[in-house]
Amino acid sequence: MHELSIIEEILKITQNEARKHNAKRILEIRLMVGEMSGVIPDIMQEYFNIASKGTLAEGALLKIKKVPIKIKCQNCCKESIIKRNKVKCPLCGSYDIKIISGREFYIDSLEVE
Ligand SMILES: [Zn+2]
Repeated sequence: MHELSIIEEILKITQNEARKHNAKRILEIRLMVGEMSGVIPDIMQEYFNIASKGTLAEGALLKIKKVPIKIKCQNCCKESIIKRNKVKCPLCGSYDIKIISGREFYIDSLEVE
């Protein structure tokens, strides 16, 4: 369900944008997806294919770029890249961390015709 509401949002934004530029069709949508956002790229394309039928974005390709999870440790003050299932500082082992990036989800650019 999470992915579906995101898809609807993407469709809304990209179609508005395409109309502004008098585009006939949206060919490609480039997304930036934080690894922490929990969005599953494969499912996204499948849902998108269904949801985009009859719209300007029908048949468009989703290009998803993953943004790694970056943290700042409050204990040793160093920044590191971590995996989604390892939420602690890899340097000192502290759980007192702040997530700097990896939660984001946004449309980076569009290719239209
Ligand atoms: Zn640390």
